[in-house]
Amino acid sequence: MKVKKIILLLFLFKSLCFSQKIETITLQLDWLHQYQFAGYYIAKEKGYYKQNGLDVKIKEFNNNIDLIEDTLKEPGHYAIGKSSLIIEKLNKKPITLLLAIYQNSPMVLLTKKNSGINSIEELANKKIMLTEDAKEMANIISMIRSQGIKSKTINFIPHSFKLDDLIDGTTDAMACYLSNEPYLLTKKKIKYNIFNPADYGFDFYGGILFTSENEIKNNLTRVKNFYDATLKGWNYAFKNIEETAKIIYEKYNTQNKTLDSLIYEGNILKKLAKYEEGLLGNIDTETINEIKRLYLLLELSKNTKLNTDTFIFDKNKILFNNYEKNFLKNNSFTLEINDSNMPFSFTQNNKFKGLEVDLWKTLAQKLNTSFNIIEEPKDKNILKHIQTNDIKFKFVYQNKQDLNTSIPLNKIKVGIATINDKNFISDLIVLKNKRIAVIKDKLLYEKLKKEYPEINFLYLEEINEGFKLLKSNEIFAVIDNILMLSHSIIKNNYNNIKIAGTLPYDLEIRLKILDKNVEAIGILNKIISKITNEEKRNILNKYQLIVYKEVKDYSWFYKYVIPLLIMIIFSIYIITKMRKEIKKRKIAENTLLDYANKDSLTKILNRRKIEKILSNLIKDARLNNSTFSIIFIDIDNFKSINDTLGHLIGDKILVDVSKIITSHIRKDDLFGRWGGEEFIIILPNTSSFDAKKSALHLKEHIEKTNFEINRKVTASFGITEFIEGDNKKDIVLRADKAMYHVKKNGKNNIKIL
Ligand code: GH3
Ligand code: MG
Ligand code: MG
Repeated sequence: MKVKKIILLLFLFKSLCFSQKIETITLQLDWLHQYQFAGYYIAKEKGYYKQNGLDVKIKEFNNNIDLIEDTLKEPGHYAIGKSSLIIEKLNKKPITLLLAIYQNSPMVLLTKKNSGINSIEELANKKIMLTEDAKEMANIISMIRSQGIKSKTINFIPHSFKLDDLIDGTTDAMACYLSNEPYLLTKKKIKYNIFNPADYGFDFYGGILFTSENEIKNNLTRVKNFYDATLKGWNYAFKNIEETAKIIYEKYNTQNKTLDSLIYEGNILKKLAKYEEGLLGNIDTETINEIKRLYLLLELSKNTKLNTDTFIFDKNKILFNNYEKNFLKNNSFTLEINDSNMPFSFTQNNKFKGLEVDLWKTLAQKLNTSFNIIEEPKDKNILKHIQTNDIKFKFVYQNKQDLNTSIPLNKIKVGIATINDKNFISDLIVLKNKRIAVIKDKLLYEKLKKEYPEINFLYLEEINEGFKLLKSNEIFAVIDNILMLSHSIIKNNYNNIKIAGTLPYDLEIRLKILDKNVEAIGILNKIISKITNEEKRNILNKYQLIVYKEVKDYSWFYKYVIPLLIMIIFSIYIITKMRKEIKKRKIAENTLLDYANKDSLTKILNRRKIEKILSNLIKDARLNNSTFSIIFIDIDNFKSINDTLGHLIGDKILVDVSKIITSHIRKDDLFGRWGGEEFIIILPNTSSFDAKKSALHLKEHIEKTNFEINRKVTASFGITEFIEGDNKKDIVLRADKAMYHVKKNGKNNIKIL
């Protein structure tokens, strides 16, 4: 009995300790319940949201809903949108994108096979049903315009959301979801054509989760919790499509879909999410900028400036707990510096400058704020009696962390300086029995003494003292950090002293808290950990430069050369600007075409363009009695490259092979990607005999290239020449067959058929 009670008490105690406040938030969908939102249902049904302290209300779309304004109005409001969110951001709506589920938008254009519309070109003067929001239809519109169809000849009609309108011919084409309507048409045994913007190079994101900038600013923990649980939900939903479809079928089936259609939808969407490629939720600045470029091209926005920094959620943002947040609110951080400690801290034109100041400012930037800087008081007592909420810090150069010092903000290499005529020093071991001064770093001094007992080390507080001894030959070398060494050499014009090498030691730069509130170190460390390596490098480089600038008299440079340079740069700027304006128009026209004709990975021609060229060449050959050949190329054992080295390396091999081929074919040959790891070269006015010579060259070049993957890459080549009566299919099929023959007979070879 007693034991039971204790256990019960323990249990109660435990649940009291661990129970957390559940917060309620809203997720607004941009359509009705279906597999498209599966990950969110799963995160809710499997308790992932609850585990993260969230109760998520999932709401279906209706026409009274304004996705953007509703999200901006209320805290704790999240919504799903399309790539057109980029236009909203360009129009200054303060929203942030959390993740994109679909790496290619599911939106495609459908026509019925029996309508006779089998290519985009045939859509001219036909009725196309789109939703009225041009922004949302941008990928479809880009695709149509990229095929040379003028806006004037497109007959857009408003979307009725009734598939019957396509079936009975009320419209000739309809914007649909790849994951829904094709399934319904197949069920009705109606044949259809799909025109997918992604195939034409218009890769738009779909299913983008977003929220307001304010939500990120004020409720970062909540955002992170929602983000993590959501991704977990999506992972499950794509791993377990049938189970997920069942859950939707039973609990979220407001559209009365069949279980079968939900499973179909799940499978299509998994592909669009590029789940297998490991891209679940991926959203990157490069793609966002590409989409932006297209919107500008389509003149859906005039604003060219997109602040991608605040646009994409940084999942590594610093997470402060409530105590830390309050602490930051109620205290301010102040740095004390020595104003004549070049290049670490100094004043120039009444402004604080130097490595320390830059590091300090970088920290403040991470919090979107500014921190104070003051000169180190000459008399410590002055400030003692003034009570402020300033937490004071000072930079220290030490490799040891204690209670009141931070983690390192940066590291500087330790170097060794000698008189000019001495050799380069790669290792201290060669300096047996020499006298060497170590400056100001007691720890390093002790360490070196222990490691090199045969060297006669000497500890000094002042670098100048060391240099004096060096000049008078009383010591052999001076050891200090390289910033300090180079700076002192140049400042004092020590022409006969050089830095003779660097040592395998770094000097760590840390912040030390000067008074109360040692707990501020924890907060500071969180901020410091967000300084990127690039930021660190840039700051170091900057001060190495300053050091060199300081020594010589550059006044002539500022007086004459700089104004002249400015004039030249200015006139170049004006001229290029004018040229750019003229070019811009041409580019806008060409870019859409480019997107549509090029393969997005390898930048060579895509399959559609190759097919088009083939059709034209066949017409030409028949008319003029000319000939041409094609080479079909398939990389050998590519699957195993992917499987052992990963998809990204696989992609790189595709790009590299494309480059090799591009640079070794003749000017008139046309080269494109047929699909996966298959390529086609079209050689106009060339017999299969001559094509074989080309193929031989290519085979050898590919074979002897070092792809830096520790194995050879080879390819199999199939060649064929145009025969009268050939259509496009015939000739490609024959070349493919020839290639296949090579595959069957050991690969890495050439066959003509
Ligand atoms: P074989 O020598 O018989 O041609 O064997 P293979 O492994 O090259 O041929 P298979 O057709 O079985 O495999 C082709 C692989 O190419 C399968 C697919 O995963 C991969 N693939 C297709 N497109 C891409 C792509 O864009 N990037 C990457 N990395 N891999 C791709
Ligand atoms: Mg293949
Ligand atoms: Mg292959």
